[in-house]
Amino acid sequence: MTAERPEAAAAACADECPINTIVIIGAGQAGGWAAHTLRTEGFTGRLVLIGNELHLPYERPPLSKAVLSGTALPETTRLMKPEAFDALGLEWRPGEQVHRIDRTAKQVLVANGETLSYDKLILCTGGRARQLALPGADQVHVHTLRTIEDAQALAPVLGPGRSVVVLGGGWIGLEVAATARQQGTEVIVVENQNRLCARTVPAEISEHLLALHQAQGTRVLLGTGVNGFARAADGRSEVWLADGSALRCDAIVLGVGLVPNDELAREAGLACDGGVLVDAQCRTSDPDILASGDVAVAPNPWAGRRMRLESWQNAQEQGIAAARSALGHAVDYQPLPWFWSDQYGMNLQIYGIPTATHRVVQRGEKASGSFILFYLAGDVVQAAIGPNAARDLRFARRLIEQRKPVDDARLADPGIPMSRL
Ligand SMILES: Cc1cc2nc3c(=O)[nH]c(=O)nc-3n(C[C@H](O)[C@H](O)[C@H](O)COP(=O)(O)OP(=O)(O)OC[C@H]3O[C@@H](n4cnc5c(N)ncnc54)[C@H](O)[C@@H]3O)c2cc1C
Repeated sequence: MTAERPEAAAAACADECPINTIVIIGAGQAGGWAAHTLRTEGFTGRLVLIGNELHLPYERPPLSKAVLSGTALPETTRLMKPEAFDALGLEWRPGEQVHRIDRTAKQVLVANGETLSYDKLILCTGGRARQLALPGADQVHVHTLRTIEDAQALAPVLGPGRSVVVLGGGWIGLEVAATARQQGTEVIVVENQNRLCARTVPAEISEHLLALHQAQGTRVLLGTGVNGFARAADGRSEVWLADGSALRCDAIVLGVGLVPNDELAREAGLACDGGVLVDAQCRTSDPDILASGDVAVAPNPWAGRRMRLESWQNAQEQGIAAARSALGHAVDYQPLPWFWSDQYGMNLQIYGIPTATHRVVQRGEKASGSFILFYLAGDVVQAAIGPNAARDLRFARRLIEQRKPVDDARLADPGIPMSRL
């Protein structure tokens, strides 16, 4: 008889061992969808959902839009109604922080010292707002926006006669700027790159966003660094810019990106690289631990590399995929990335990952406020972005997914319905 190699035994166990208990860490959008899916897929065992926030799982997109403007209550962001959540019959542990994962004992350690055993563990720990450790940060209140409490703290600061400096011209920064401006707040956006949303959209779209914000009376300072903060004699806040000048305001909002909450995974020895590495089955380097949502770094064929997707679509779909995978179902999660942003009534949507190597074909006039930019490799559309063009973009998505060759002239002609392409 030959001795079985440990990794072979682990793989066999991952396939054959009974699953009595599944623990999910993180009760955000991905965690909520994972829990829901486990039940709808027939898992009747012990299901534990641990989240360090006090709320039922909720969606974050409205926090910078309707919740911040006060047109929607925080409760409206819930993933499901409390009755539907109760009906899942899970062990719900709100306000609890998981401190450690013991992979050998297959246990997680929660804040009160209690340990919980798992057969499968799903990490949905998301991320937190990046902070800037600059001089004077302790003298002023710097807002970030990730949670319901963050939105509730920022909302009262906005309004006529108030002024806000938004640091970071990415999606969160621009959405906060738009909502604040619509409340009558004086807004200045400070971005250290020389264009807006430089990490995620091509220059043509950055220009469109810049024009949109400037037209609404927002001052946008591009290519501008920040050296620090101070409290002015009148109690207001000061933002010191790299050129030596200072901006005085009632509130500072930081929108400089997200830090993935991957510490638990790293300390447990799971493979991580800017987030928790997973495969297309949402499995980490430990076959009994899966990950999904903002924290997961997954192979993405549309980008041709591994990446983290910080989007509503990914939180939901990968949460579902991780749950199915945990139950041993066939999963091949390789989504075409989709992201949207709402600013001043403009709905911008992005399908795929546009890159500088793509050829650009434009459909519709930019001045009309509704157009699409297609990004092609050869005669195949790889990505599409457009403001106020949701319907046509749904057809664009199909073109991309089907990798169907298209003719540039037909693509550019708004007279030819997208459905006919
Ligand atoms: C203000 C805002 C606006 C957005 N707008 C859009 C948009 O317009 N379009 C779009 O596509 N996407 C948008 N997004 C992105 C989208 O909301 C996120 O991608 C999504 O929320 C990610 O879900 P998640 O479950 O992976 O992570 P999260 O929602 O961050 O949930 C993770 C949860 O795990 C908890 N947790 C972490 N560590 C532990 C631990 N050790 N123990 C217990 N609990 C823990 C966290 O506190 C959190 O509650 C927006 C995000 C924000 C913040």
